[in-house]
Amino acid sequence: MRYAIIADIHANLAAFQAVLEDIHGKGEVDEIWCLGDIIGYGPEPRQCIELVKKYCAVCIAGNHDLAAIGKMELAYFNPTAAEACRWTTGQLNPIDVHYLGNLPMKAEKGDFLLVHGSPADPALEYMISASIAEKNFAFFSQKYCLAGHSHIPAAFREEGKTCQPIHLTFGVGLVMHKQRMIVNPGSVGQPRDGDPRASYAIYDSEGLMLRLYRVEYNIGATQDKIMQAGLPVPLITRLEQGR
Ligand code: ZN
Repeated sequence: MRYAIIADIHANLAAFQAVLEDIHGKGEVDEIWCLGDIIGYGPEPRQCIELVKKYCAVCIAGNHDLAAIGKMELAYFNPTAAEACRWTTGQLNPIDVHYLGNLPMKAEKGDFLLVHGSPADPALEYMISASIAEKNFAFFSQKYCLAGHSHIPAAFREEGKTCQPIHLTFGVGLVMHKQRMIVNPGSVGQPRDGDPRASYAIYDSEGLMLRLYRVEYNIGATQDKIMQAGLPVPLITRLEQGR
């Protein structure tokens, strides 16, 4: 079985469409799993929700999904994120609100636990260091955990009572047997690792191999739409910088 893993689309339709095309161009996948933050920051929230509904077998609730429907306080957001969130709220119809309100905080798929942030704090914690990842291995019983939220591809392997960060590189397969692992596939719609290309992963359960992919998309098209929507200017520049 082959599974595509996507996260942090952030209402960037051009990036999302490019990733879907890339996934389908790599052969049949059995399911697509989304780790949350369908919306927020970007200019096309409703279109992205529709595509997630159409293509994803499961989608976890992200902090931006929750905040846009009033299920999380904007106090957790910086001013730019809060402004974009208020704009997003104004775009959603009652069907979108109902859909987002029913997204799970965690889901189990085979050997994997799926969360947005971390097993300990599914909506808000960033697993960006080995020490944070290490603590989180005690918060799930499945063999592997998939998480998004940081917008930075990353992998951590449990080794005894400690945890080792593993370099997750574009195109290089990560073997998923033996030890427990936490993997972040990076962000579709707002990468923050210095590479502006959309990021996602495919897991092949036969070869036990997870592979990271980066996809070029029309960044200018999304930037134009952010401008037209009147969303904050820093959201335009950060897309081309991948920051
Ligand atoms: Zn996010």
